Amino acid sequence: MLFSEFSRYCEEIEGISGRLDMIDVVSRALPALSPEELPVFVRFIMGRIFPDWSPQKLGIGPNLLYEAIGYVAGVKKEAVIDRINRSGDVGRVVEEFLTKKSQVSFSHQDLELVDVYNKLIAISARGGATSQKEKLRTVKLLLGDATPLEGRYLSRIMLEELRIGVGEGTVREAIAKAFSVDPTLVEHAMQAINDLGEVAQRAKTGEDALKDVRITPFHPLRMMLAQQGAIADMLQEHGEVAAEYKYDGSRFQFHKAGGKKRMYSRRLEDVTAALPDVIALLDGATTHDVILDGEVIAIKDGRPMPFQSVLRRFRRRHDIAEAKEAIRMVPNVFDILYLDGENLIDIPFSERRKRLEFVVQEFVAPQVVSGDQAIIEKTYNDALAAGHEGIMIKVRDSPYTPGQRGKNWIKIKPEVDTLDLAVVGAEWGEGKRAHVFGSFLVACQDQGKLVPLSRVATGFSDGQLAEVYELLKDTVISRSGKEVQFEPELVFEVGYAELQVSPTYAAGFALRFPRFIRLRDDKDTTEIETLDSIKERYSRQSKSAQAYTG
Ligand code: AMP
Repeated sequence: MLFSEFSRYCEEIEGISGRLDMIDVVSRALPALSPEELPVFVRFIMGRIFPDWSPQKLGIGPNLLYEAIGYVAGVKKEAVIDRINRSGDVGRVVEEFLTKKSQVSFSHQDLELVDVYNKLIAISARGGATSQKEKLRTVKLLLGDATPLEGRYLSRIMLEELRIGVGEGTVREAIAKAFSVDPTLVEHAMQAINDLGEVAQRAKTGEDALKDVRITPFHPLRMMLAQQGAIADMLQEHGEVAAEYKYDGSRFQFHKAGGKKRMYSRRLEDVTAALPDVIALLDGATTHDVILDGEVIAIKDGRPMPFQSVLRRFRRRHDIAEAKEAIRMVPNVFDILYLDGENLIDIPFSERRKRLEFVVQEFVAPQVVSGDQAIIEKTYNDALAAGHEGIMIKVRDSPYTPGQRGKNWIKIKPEVDTLDLAVVGAEWGEGKRAHVFGSFLVACQDQGKLVPLSRVATGFSDGQLAEVYELLKDTVISRSGKEVQFEPELVFEVGYAELQVSPTYAAGFALRFPRFIRLRDDKDTTEIETLDSIKERYSRQSKSAQAYTG
């Protein structure tokens, strides 16, 4: 496939908003693709380059891209930046520059989809001192050969943000439709191999190939997630449940096979280099080839430390030796997904637990199995008394469902704090929520100005999302890709577990576990939380954390 054809598909999709129409367009494109083109098309159309399991990064920053655009367009980088700042869309700016340029020269080579992919892969593989120069050269060559429309999508792919609204759910359904296979098989294959590109190749071969998926060590799976719920409901529904402490640290996935060991974070980044001590502990705890799921916590004087100190350690690349002494990192393993070549995600949790206890000698998180509410409540109180966050209640006959926030894992923890915040933006939802807004940008106020503080995407019922959509749909003041901005009118009460210092939002803080509690239609945006009061809450919170860890 030529990259120009891919670009035309993108353009067609960018012009439609209905999910079914999008599925239709994508599914039309897939059957004719060669085995080599298929995975590339599937990832590119979602604005991705690498398989989801891959921690690889392209490493083309905006700066390098702007320089290449300037070169190709024959203008200064500053002019490119200025134009992008005003437009907010790199793709359109590149298109505009290339349109002007092509009025002067017409010479360019046809770009092939796979060739573009190979060149991008080569860029990401490059390291060392000369790499920036070589990257720049390749980007200039690619953009130099692009037509204006190709430039729009090529530049967006280079920033891994295609902005045409095609999410994973859309592509999964398109694959099922294109190759007439069962969508649940597509979803299951995706859970095990974590790369829709390969899933598409298998779907093209047939349902047997989709069923025959294997988990591969060092291809991390997405983490299974939890919902909020109540002890009594879980007991009523399942009779007997498993309860574990809910450790407040960082999620990890530990892979060990053929003598090699690696560790991945919740976002599937490779954090092996940052946690040599934890890896040594886990390595020593089993002689088997395994993939283990768990949470690493920081312990000081026998008590868990606040979450931020663990995070700091995950990010740290230097001074590892020094950090090791200050805080002790302890892994708590609560699941096993792979054992000596065998995929375990589809067997019941109770069976996985048996294997876990059998093959891992240390660091297995204790578990209480009971149908008695008093016993589960005692476990909850013990967890809080020991300084943990609460408990997790798990359904014993449930499979491990990567990436899903289902009802098989329920978290129980004390009530969260709340803030009243103005809704200033949103992103369209996915899947069955594609026709409403799914995640909201919320802001506090500072000297009369609204300052973004967090995104809120959980805690809504379908009814609430529909209600919020009705209230917001006529207040949209601008849109770009899946994002919209609102005239600020609406106030949400947002629950959170902890305030963190963070550069992500303009407020300089971020909320941990932000959660929609309710609409505050009794309040207007002048009555929302101020940045000063958030600062005060933050300092109170860190004081109490210090007191509690000694
Ligand atoms: P939440 O992030 O609030 O959805 O809660 C789920 C998170 O709790 C998981 O992603 C883990 O990082 C963490 N966690 C702590 N202890 C456990 C446990 N025993 N089982 C599962 N997850 C746990």
